[in-house]
Amino acid sequence: MSEIVARVQPSLRGRYAPSPTGDLHMGNLRTALLAWLFARKAGGQFVLRIEDLDRPRVRQGSTEHMLEDLHWLGLDWNEGPDCSGPYAPYTQSERLDIYQDYLQRLETAGLIYPCYCSRAEIAQAASAPQQGEEGPRYPGTCRYLTQAQRGEREASGRRPSLRFRIDDEHIVNFTDLLAGPTSQHVQQVVGDFIVRRADGIFAYQFAVVVDDALMHINQVVRGIDLLHSSERQILLYEALGFPVPSFAHVPLVLDKQGKRLAKREQSSGLAPLRAAGTTPQQVVGQLAASCGLVLPGTSISPYELLGRLAPDLYAIMRTKQ
Ligand code: GLU
Repeated sequence: MSEIVARVQPSLRGRYAPSPTGDLHMGNLRTALLAWLFARKAGGQFVLRIEDLDRPRVRQGSTEHMLEDLHWLGLDWNEGPDCSGPYAPYTQSERLDIYQDYLQRLETAGLIYPCYCSRAEIAQAASAPQQGEEGPRYPGTCRYLTQAQRGEREASGRRPSLRFRIDDEHIVNFTDLLAGPTSQHVQQVVGDFIVRRADGIFAYQFAVVVDDALMHINQVVRGIDLLHSSERQILLYEALGFPVPSFAHVPLVLDKQGKRLAKREQSSGLAPLRAAGTTPQQVVGQLAASCGLVLPGTSISPYELLGRLAPDLYAIMRTKQ
């Protein structure tokens, strides 16, 4: 029986998907290490994907730095921009045709519509400003515009974003492997959300779903700050007919006061540590100790750490939340 189960169960495919907007700071590196540990502990595959769609925020040379830092730490991946793989390319800016194709599917299904509102107009329109994680809830202003009204706005030179039409009643529930049961009434909290921005850039929520699905990622590990992006993403998985992966949202690295790292602290990546002669094993030990996986002062490689951890890494991490 267990043999059959082993054969039919797809093996775990995890990923780390950084945005090349600067060097990886300790929080990013810890998320990468944990995503790697979860995948490897399950004997699974690990994919590295570069999320560089937001061109104005991309920093020249940042991708190369990130890959170099992750390799230096001792992490490895089966597929990624520097080693390719069956679902290449692994850099989002090289996948625009793919996103366009899936956007077209949403369009054909009548699930997207153009929105001409500016941020300021949305903020104003929200009467009792319900502050969602990414600003005020979108109140649906452009949902029912007629063709003529759209034409007027186009004529005034406004370029629309494209929004995903949410089923008003749908409450999305899922159980995060670390954060536990979670749910969100997406229409009430976020409203119809953007899948392509007015400047033509495909939105994170949309591209990440297309990529994770096409790359057969069945476990998404990332920072807890993205927990409530998952509900929007689940709506997109469902709309596009993709299987929904499992999610594990890991804690962020906090400062001594328990607050998120300030920009200044975030920007200090590995460079100063490397310049001071710190070894990769010391950094891995520091990252692992910061979430209670080893004792402070431990010096250890990722593979040694993997061998030392008990099989149910989720249970260990849940107690550290
Ligand atoms: N690219 C995102 C970031 O760097 C992570 C997205 C994800 O893991 O889903 O914050």
